[in-house]
Amino acid sequence: MSYPAVMCPMVDQQTKTTFDGGCVCGGVRYRMESLPLFVHCCHCRWCQRETGASYALNALIEADRVSLLNGEPEMTPTPSNSGKGQEIWRCPKCRVALWSNYAGFGSKVHFIRVGTLDEANRITPDIHIYTSSKQPWVIIPEGHAAVGRYYDLKKYWPESSRTRLKQLLR
Ligand SMILES: [Zn+2]
Ligand SMILES: [Zn+2]
Repeated sequence: MSYPAVMCPMVDQQTKTTFDGGCVCGGVRYRMESLPLFVHCCHCRWCQRETGASYALNALIEADRVSLLNGEPEMTPTPSNSGKGQEIWRCPKCRVALWSNYAGFGSKVHFIRVGTLDEANRITPDIHIYTSSKQPWVIIPEGHAAVGRYYDLKKYWPESSRTRLKQLLR
């Protein structure tokens, strides 16, 4: 006998695969409709400068799996490490950044700023990148994938995510 998912007591925070998020003023609210493709913890100097912190935590997900629940973010063209620029999508009121689009995948993949998710604790990094410019006090947990600069997607992404990306870029 099966129950609708909402009634099933087994569906809790651990098994839920949607993620809601938003800016600090509440003007923009969004939902990630599934688990991300992959999660970067980026220690590059550009991310440090953009966030004012020591690294950025980005969940990569197909843009069509992100739906707006309230408001609409506004795009700010911003220089990027690659020289090709990025588009940072911000709340038009409080200006908090919600996600970026980079030249590589274009507008098809959102780099969601994990800190804007209500339950950011449900997302952990799959890889640490640009560790060559990591702040010395940041200690990467043992067993975590880490590379000095960027990485080969084929080597690190799980099969399921590579299939999703293939479908997306087709
Ligand atoms: Zn806002
Ligand atoms: Zn970075």
